[in-house]
Amino acid sequence: LDAASTSASDNVKVVVRVRPSDADEAQGSLQQLSGTQVSIVSAHEHLRTYEFDNVLGPATSQEDTFKVVGSPFVAHLLQGFNVTLFAYGQTAAGKTHTMTGNLKDRSQVGLAPRLLEQLFLEISNAEASEGEGKVKFTVKISYLELYKEEITDLLGPADAPRLQLREDVHSGVYVEGLTEREILNAGDAMAVVEQGSARRRTNETRMNQESSRSHAVLTVYIESWTKADESEVECIRSSRLNLVDLAGSERNKSSGATGERLKEACSINQSLTTLGRVISELVEAQQAQQQGSPARHIPYRESRLTFLLQDSLGGNSKTLIIACVSPAEAAAAESASTLEFAARAKRI
Ligand code: ADP
Ligand code: MG
Repeated sequence: LDAASTSASDNVKVVVRVRPSDADEAQGSLQQLSGTQVSIVSAHEHLRTYEFDNVLGPATSQEDTFKVVGSPFVAHLLQGFNVTLFAYGQTAAGKTHTMTGNLKDRSQVGLAPRLLEQLFLEISNAEASEGEGKVKFTVKISYLELYKEEITDLLGPADAPRLQLREDVHSGVYVEGLTEREILNAGDAMAVVEQGSARRRTNETRMNQESSRSHAVLTVYIESWTKADESEVECIRSSRLNLVDLAGSERNKSSGATGERLKEACSINQSLTTLGRVISELVEAQQAQQQGSPARHIPYRESRLTFLLQDSLGGNSKTLIIACVSPAEAAAAESASTLEFAARAKRI
């Protein structure tokens, strides 16, 4: 059941989370068959069965979800490796619930606050076990929203200008001027997640629900420092955790759309398609590497989202896709398309 602690040959994982149905929804044709299998009857009445690394059924609590797809990654981060978790799925399938959850109710908080809490716990253990003052960790957070081609800093001032993606040899790919908040404990972290998430909801209301059309990227930067001698400190490891709450994957009705709506639909479709390609290329690259084949080209640059994340993906990084689906009859076509995306990302 452990999503992270397998061999390096398994750096990309795909899990499905099925949300509970609302009381007034007709149950669809989605069925959980086991801890790793799910089946769905498509529009043409074909039954398809899919196998994933895990299938989290509708009764899975926030805590159990964290145990399976969150907690195992913390050790990896402290060892200096990057981790990226993506929540994929149609609007209202449970992406935000899974990633951030209800921040006002402790039992209903999602992966972000739980990961940060465990991170600080393990940091203090690691600092203590190294001996007084020998190793020190620093933690920073940034939180941004990517809408069409534009980046908004969710931790910056409300009237801050849009930010630009840059790349240079020293820093790699970065967002120029993005706020990075230093965090000293889990309480600080929670406050920052709350602040960014509140800004996201305000944007959503102001822009008439457009936030379901934007990607939200919460990044945690972890660095460990050691005292080389009395006067000097040296950074020995650094890693990043990216939590990406993707734009709704529902087929954007681009046929009738014009102007801004058409641009928006194209932009989302392209970024999700590119993401799928990047993930499946990473899986194949890993297999090729194990067989001693030459390195493959990964199409990071084909969307803003994958370009932004390129330094965090591949290599020894861990990547996890949580495909969120609704069991409702009305959502059957979109749920089938989400399972198809997830299955294509990684043929198991
Ligand atoms: P998305 O971010 O994919 O658009 P949300 O996370 O906002 O969807 O979920 C839509 C609604 O369903 C929210 O009210 C959320 O609290 C609820 N919900 C989603 N997943 C679950 C779950 N696993 N358990 C309980 N409620 C859920
Ligand atoms: Mg959402």
